[in-house]
Order: sequence, then C-alpha cells, then structure tokens
Amino acid sequence: MATPERYAKILRVLRHRQPTLTVLMDEVNKPHNLSAIIRTCDAVGVLEAHGVPPKGGPLASFSGHTYEATSGSAHKWVPVHSHPDAVSAVRSLQGQGFQVLATHLSQRSVDYREPDYTRPTCVLLGAEKWGVSDETADAADHNIVIPMFGMVQSLNVSVAAATILFEAQRQRLAAGMYAEPQLSPEALDRLAFEWAYP
Ligand code: SAM
Repeated sequence: MATPERYAKILRVLRHRQPTLTVLMDEVNKPHNLSAIIRTCDAVGVLEAHGVPPKGGPLASFSGHTYEATSGSAHKWVPVHSHPDAVSAVRSLQGQGFQVLATHLSQRSVDYREPDYTRPTCVLLGAEKWGVSDETADAADHNIVIPMFGMVQSLNVSVAAATILFEAQRQRLAAGMYAEPQLSPEALDRLAFEWAYP
C-alpha cells in the first residue's frame, strides 16, 4: 500500500516522463553498463527503453536479475522491451514515428547536439566491443557522434548515453516539455496505479 507521500512522488515522476524519448541498446552486454544507462533513462524521464539482448552471452534477456546495484533500482521504473535484432527494432520504432539516431562514426555523422530532440527520438547505442553495425546505422535516420579530442577513440557506452540523453533533456526543458505531462491522463492514472500497487 503506497503512502500519500509515495503516491505524490509517483505522480510527480510520471508527470515528467517523456514517452517520445527512448534508447535502443544493441547487444550492450555488461550488466553495469546496462544498469547505468537505465538509471540515466529514469533521470531524464524515459518511459520505456528497448534492447537487443546479447547473443549467447550471460544476458539472454532483460529480466530483473540482469541488473546490478548500479541501476539504483531504476530498472523497476524503466521497462526494457526486447527485440530479436537491431534492424527490425529500428524499423519498428520508425514505424511508431521515432527518428532513430545511431551513435556511429560514418560519412554522414553529425555532432550529437545538432538533431532536434523535441521530436520523438530513439538513441541507438552499440555493443562495447563492436559498436553499432554499418547495416543498423544505415537503417537509422541520422548518425551522431560526441566529438573526441583524446588519445582514446570512444567513450564508455553508458557515458555516451548520458551525454546524449542530457542534451535531449536540455532541449526538451527549453521547449517546455517537462512543464506539462506528456502522458495522456488515462495512461498517467493507469501507470500511477501500477507503480503504487505492483
Ligand atoms: N569499437 C567500437 C566502435 O568502433 O564503435 C567502440 C564501441 S564504444 C566502446 C560503445 C558504444 O558507446 C558505441 O557503440 C556508442 O553507442 C557509444 N559511444 C562511445 N563513444 C562515442 C562517441 N564519441 N560518440 C557517440 N557514441 C559513442
């Protein structure tokens, strides 16, 4: 049974949730990275995340035991939907109206601050070892990169996710998208009930 304070907190959080902002994690296979990404998703208000589970690895699904303490229990508040492969996941999200931004270095890559994150947006993140495949990056609407000026070529995937998602949060705050609930009143009520009485 949720206390009135707990219920008020749940409502406050849900009023900031952004159903039109999400991530797609393509075979991100280290639990601490997955957990850190989900924790950032919770912080910026991502309602639901997406992922392709690593093939044959220890994380065959995105069930609760996948997460370490790193998530700070955020995984309870940000469900991860599983997809069989990255290209079909990209197509499915595009079919729902999302622009997919692949974090990938290519001829057509732009600085991650250039896209308009107030549009329905999915940030596609790659596996620690392989990154996003060329085929999946081609299927995306844009390729984005965080400029790097160091000796090392890439960031940790959870750091890259946080950098990009907080740019999305910055743009959405400026556009007033956290000032009014983005969820419909019906969805907000339903989720508040589900979160309060799991
Ligand atoms: N060897 C991999 C490659 O060539 O793509 C490195 C992958 S990197 C360790 C893991 C993931 O972090 C990438 O797939 C991407 O999602 C994200 N990432 C790391 N550095 C990035 C950067 N500078 N810009 C955008 N995304 C980055």
